[in-house]
Amino acid sequence: MAAQSQVPQSTGFLSVQEIVDRLTRVRERVAAAEAAAGRPTGSVRVLLATKTQPADLVAAVLALPETAGMLRGENRVQELVAKGPALAGLTIPTHLIGPLQSNKINAALRWVDAVESVASVELAHALASRLAPGRVLEVMIQVNVSAEPTKSGLPPDDAVDVAHAVAGISGLRLTGFMTIGANTPDQDEVRRGYALLRAIRDQTLADGLDTATELSMGMSGDLEAAIAEGATIVRVGTAVFGPRGV
Ligand SMILES: *Cc1c(COP(=O)(O)O)cnc(C)c1O
Repeated sequence: MAAQSQVPQSTGFLSVQEIVDRLTRVRERVAAAEAAAGRPTGSVRVLLATKTQPADLVAAVLALPETAGMLRGENRVQELVAKGPALAGLTIPTHLIGPLQSNKINAALRWVDAVESVASVELAHALASRLAPGRVLEVMIQVNVSAEPTKSGLPPDDAVDVAHAVAGISGLRLTGFMTIGANTPDQDEVRRGYALLRAIRDQTLADGLDTATELSMGMSGDLEAAIAEGATIVRVGTAVFGPRGV
C-alpha cells in the first residue's frame, strides 16, 4: 500500500516491516504465556503503547491486519492530542495510560475511548462532569502495587473502596484495574504485585461490581508474569516499536 512507503524509514524509528516481525514475536509470547497459564488463546489483548512514535508510523501500524483486535495507549495527553487527527479514521480503541491533570481533561476526552489511569475519586468526578450528554466513558482504577514512591496510582488498601465510589458515578463505566509492575529483575516480586492487583479485582467482582473484569498489567519485559497472574490487557511498547529515544 502507498501509505507504507510514506513512513519515514531512517529517523531512529523502526520500519513497518520490522514492526510486523516484532508483532509476530509478541503474539507468540502472549500465546505461549496464555498456554502456560492454562488460559484460552486470545484471552489477553495487546495494547500498543505508542509513546514517542510519530503519528504517521502509528497510523501505518494500526492499519495493518496484524494489529486487528489490539488497543492503543498514550501516556501523555500532549501526544494524544498531537497524534489524534492523524489517527482519527482508525477504529482501534485508544486508552490514556498516564497521569491526567484536571486542566487537560477536555483535551484528553476528545481523543480517548478509555482512561486507565484514574487514581482518585476526585479525578473520576471531574471526568464525568466534562462528558458530553449521553457519553459513557470506560475507566480503570490505577493501583500502585509496588508502593514505589515515584509511581502514580492508589495504595492497594484504598483500591476497592475507590472502585465502589467510581462505579457509582453516572457517565463512567468501571471496567477494571491497571498497574505498572515493580521495577526489578526479581520476577517473583513482580508477580506478587500482579497477584495483588488480581486479588483487588476479584474482591471487587465478589462485591458485585461485575463490569470490573479487566486487569491491565504487564509490559514488554514482564508480560509473561502478568499473564500468569491473570492479565487481560498487556501494554507493549519497546517489544513492538524498539527502544525509545534512539
Ligand atoms: C510506555 C508504557 C508501557 C510500555 O512499556 P514498554 O516497556 O516499552 O513495553 C506500558 N505502560 C505504560 C503506562 C507506559 O507508559
